[in-house]
Amino acid sequence: MDNFDVIVIGAGPAGYVAAIRAAQLGLKTACIDDFKGKDGKAALGGTCLNVGCIPSKALLDSSKQFWNLSHSFEAHGISAKDAKIDVGTMVGRKDKIVKQFTGGIAMLFKQNKVTPFFGKGRLLKDRQVEVTAADGSKQTLAATNVIIATGSVPIELPFAKFDGKNIVDNAGALDFSETPKRLGVIGAGVIGLELGSVWKRLGSDVTIIEALPDFLGVADADVAKTAAREFAKQGLKIELGAKLSKAEVKGNEVNLTYSAKDGEKQLVVDKLLVAVGRRAYTDGVLADGTGVKTDERGRVIVDEHCWAGVEGVWAVGDCVRGPMLAHKGSEEGVMVAEIIAGKAGHVNLDTVPWVIYTEPEIAWVGKTEAQCKAENIPYKTGSFPFAAIGRAVAMNEPAGFVKVIAHAETDRILGVHLVGACVSELVAECVVAMEFKGSSEDLARIVHAHPTLSEAVHEAALSVDKRAIHKAN
Ligand code: NAD
Repeated sequence: MDNFDVIVIGAGPAGYVAAIRAAQLGLKTACIDDFKGKDGKAALGGTCLNVGCIPSKALLDSSKQFWNLSHSFEAHGISAKDAKIDVGTMVGRKDKIVKQFTGGIAMLFKQNKVTPFFGKGRLLKDRQVEVTAADGSKQTLAATNVIIATGSVPIELPFAKFDGKNIVDNAGALDFSETPKRLGVIGAGVIGLELGSVWKRLGSDVTIIEALPDFLGVADADVAKTAAREFAKQGLKIELGAKLSKAEVKGNEVNLTYSAKDGEKQLVVDKLLVAVGRRAYTDGVLADGTGVKTDERGRVIVDEHCWAGVEGVWAVGDCVRGPMLAHKGSEEGVMVAEIIAGKAGHVNLDTVPWVIYTEPEIAWVGKTEAQCKAENIPYKTGSFPFAAIGRAVAMNEPAGFVKVIAHAETDRILGVHLVGACVSELVAECVVAMEFKGSSEDLARIVHAHPTLSEAVHEAALSVDKRAIHKAN
């Protein structure tokens, strides 16, 4: 039986990062994964690289270029009549990017001497791990430490089951061979908004059906309001407080029945994307007698160091508590590898940034105003609009704002909420400020380059103390 210091089950951003870090620290490491790419070959990187973060960003970028041709080039004096998009080329470009990055992980494994195993990993008793290859053959490995990083899978609605053709999940919606004339989306969450935006920009008539009465309840209310206004301008139709009850495929169409605020409604679409959340994927990963416990949502129960309560067993990423975000999983992977190697390890879940790659982009870190209120934390806010930032206007991207929330007495930054161009990058400064327990005055006293979008963060911080320069306070 092959013996390792560390076996990681799952090679998504939590698992492959854990494996590389463990190997860097001199531990004999293996990583097991069974994901197959579009070519049927083993593809490392999990959901994020294969059918999530990276491919969606590729399509978001392609579709934004196309949208700009007809919606913003004119303002620059550029005319581009009769622009066309070849969806096959766009999807092909996305596939090439995915292959480049999944291949990149295979190379990193080689460089760092991580041994990959292709198959489904299952934790047995006493830190043995069974690997079942695609042909059904099995082998058993042993390790001093096992890290479970099996990720998550899309939640399926019983009355709208994925068929891979007309009713699809995120993976399916990244691979349409042509722009659907009418696209229905169930769920106005991160995936629904990002992939709904892609196909809307390419000409699809997109309707998003969202069960909750409020739009983007996880974000700050002002950010959600601005985003909703901008999405409506783009023609994205979002029905709130609407629940799907039936999705029937008839020929090449899907007939939807849903209850809305104003009664039962019907909608016919060509494709239906169901994006109602993801669930931890721990099915069949734990054999009887391992002692590892899961909660009512199938997540492995772990402590703050991602220890699963059994000697030498850990779990990281989407299959444990906390936000289902690639970067959160990666940092948990690093933390666990470092703890196994006898070092200190820590992940601060309070400063995990969120980003939604719509147009405008949405990003935040820390608490919202609603959370401060609910927790009785006294706070003050300062905000600043991109419409008053020279660089944003020069880029023709005036929508949105930055809002800083600081403690009313200590001035410590509690949260920063951003909606606008490139805020996925701007949020990093805010995370650093919060990690260093910074105050709004700290941000306000830092020199920000002019002219840049980052001046909105600076001005919002100044505005907490009513001393923004380029707006009335
Ligand atoms: P989500 O939790 O972001 O959104 C799901 C939405 O569906 C919610 O608004 C929910 O109220 C709604 N919903 C649930 N059941 C419904 C029903 N029956 N009818 C109508 N609406 C319903 O989930 P998602 O968009 O599927 O994304 C899954 C996970 O992947 C999330 O945890 C997200 O963080 C992660 N992700 C992150 C990014 C990013 O960081 N940019 C991108 C994609 C996915």
